[in-house]
Amino acid sequence: MKQTQTQTQHRPKRYGMAIDVDKCTGCGSCMVACFSENNVPFKQDETDKLLSITWLRVYKISNNEKFPNTEVAFIPRPCQHCAGQHEGHSPCVSVCPATATDYSVETGIVSQIYTRCFGCRYCMAACPYHARYFNWWDPVWPAGMEKSLSPNVSPRMRGVVEKCSFCFHRYQQARDKAYAEGRREIREEEYQTACTQACPAGAIVFGDLNNPEHLVHQIVKPDIEHHYRSHNPRAFRLLERLGTNTKVYYLSSRDWVRKSGDNYLPGEPVGLQGKADTHG
Ligand code: SF4
Ligand code: SF4
Repeated sequence: MKQTQTQTQHRPKRYGMAIDVDKCTGCGSCMVACFSENNVPFKQDETDKLLSITWLRVYKISNNEKFPNTEVAFIPRPCQHCAGQHEGHSPCVSVCPATATDYSVETGIVSQIYTRCFGCRYCMAACPYHARYFNWWDPVWPAGMEKSLSPNVSPRMRGVVEKCSFCFHRYQQARDKAYAEGRREIREEEYQTACTQACPAGAIVFGDLNNPEHLVHQIVKPDIEHHYRSHNPRAFRLLERLGTNTKVYYLSSRDWVRKSGDNYLPGEPVGLQGKADTHG
């Protein structure tokens, strides 16, 4: 632990998640909490997935075995807040001609600045995780519901792209509170995402991957010198071989789940995660 503390003590924050797929029941509470917290407009008919906006989407996967060997798993997918092989080289950030999406070196969070976005959607094409959504319409809420919108998150207008921000407004609020109390640092529990708090299964753990005191660091055991690969044998990252160096880690004891996550080919042995070192 001591060595890890030395490794990390001068590093900026690096917010990330560990999502335990074996705990997730697919209930969708995290999705609902995300909608509510971030003023995400919903449609009367959400069946058209090209139009619906879900910053956090829960995917269902299966091992494709016949009964009684059938197994399913649920993969909650927020923006993965990719760092790339050279910190800040997220696929979406690299292509945006308007600097409307940016990488924070202070927190590792990939932001979206709506008033700069002019809707070219390059970022959507660049994102390997389909984590970005385009507003084809101005948001419409059922009569009266606009009164319950969060004042901390600006609603988005027609023509711009939006995505998960790791509830960045909560970080700002926690920081303001800490400063008001004469503290320079915020505590782990002071900045938590809405989905983390809403999950009844406790499947989502959020915090600073660079802080050995934070649970997410202890679960992930990131190898800081090697693109933050996890030392936890249960952990994997989605499409890790692309070299996106994401900050959302998934945990499962099931081989088929881990293989699905990194898009392994049939028959390919486990254990090749993150070999694509040259991408970036
Ligand atoms: S749609 Fe907006 S955020 Fe995306 S690339 Fe274009 S300007 Fe940048
Ligand atoms: S998951 Fe997609 S939107 Fe999020 S940082 Fe990576 S490329 Fe950008």
